[in-house]
Amino acid sequence: MPFSKIGSAHANEAMGFEQSVARQTTSLNAKRAFSYLEKICEIGSRTTGTIGMKKQQEMLQSHFEKLGGVVLWQPFQSRHPETGMSVEIKNMVVQWKPENPQRVFLCTHYDTKPFPAMDPKNPKGLFVGANDGGSGTALFMELAHLMKDLPTNVGVDFVLFDAEELVFDEKRDSYFLGSTYFAQAYANDPTGTRYQCGILLDMIGDSDLQLYYEENSFKFAPALVKEVWSVAKKLRIKEFEPKIQHSVRDDHMPLNEIARIPVIDLIDFDYFPRGGRKDKAYWHTMADTPDKCSGVSLVKVGNVMIEWIKQQ
Ligand SMILES: [Zn+2]
Repeated sequence: MPFSKIGSAHANEAMGFEQSVARQTTSLNAKRAFSYLEKICEIGSRTTGTIGMKKQQEMLQSHFEKLGGVVLWQPFQSRHPETGMSVEIKNMVVQWKPENPQRVFLCTHYDTKPFPAMDPKNPKGLFVGANDGGSGTALFMELAHLMKDLPTNVGVDFVLFDAEELVFDEKRDSYFLGSTYFAQAYANDPTGTRYQCGILLDMIGDSDLQLYYEENSFKFAPALVKEVWSVAKKLRIKEFEPKIQHSVRDDHMPLNEIARIPVIDLIDFDYFPRGGRKDKAYWHTMADTPDKCSGVSLVKVGNVMIEWIKQQ
């Protein structure tokens, strides 16, 4: 996740990964969700155009296809901000019930920032982005177990944006390359897939989860914001607090502004030790690792998503 205008361990045991993959279930599983997060982070850095990203892409394609998803790629070339060479950026789309013309989507970014620029000790160290890049991706892997047989009137796409933060220099480089390309392609092809609305998931794995209304989302799509928080209330998931807390520029901006799709951002931007100081935040530091996240948080958000999809 990139930046905010205004400016938080549950170690679950990994279960047998291979065993768990090719099985459809009827409810989300916190341990399995967390094992996906660990699996993603074990790859290491997943920055756009790197071997780590390629490994992740292969792992995700295989996972989603085993569970009955249809995987599509949206590749394009861009100039690498650091080397000046061409770099391939690949958005990934996983379709559930692709024949249904009534569609909604969930999206996240699946690339990681090249370096932990906010790290107080080692801003050129390894950044694995457990919460920032990993959490949404891990939740999609978990949700995939339910998607094929989910009773719903709509088809659902998972959209995984690449190059959300291919940013080496904050003053020079642009955020949101993948989502901006996606939004432009959508706006330029009115005969392609149409979406009623979408939900962006970013930094939703914090073990100390709080999800507030995000200000830009509330401006673009207030009804959708209220709808999602009312689903959480119905499910008694109290981590969804119905008040505005942060104003965040994220992948939902181009989707609203260019593609004109109502898209809201579900983001927990308070990512620091419980009861701790905000200047000790984990965001964009080497400390954004799975031990700061929990499968329980992932599944809480996942259950709200499942219920919301069923209501469409
Ligand atoms: Zn970020």
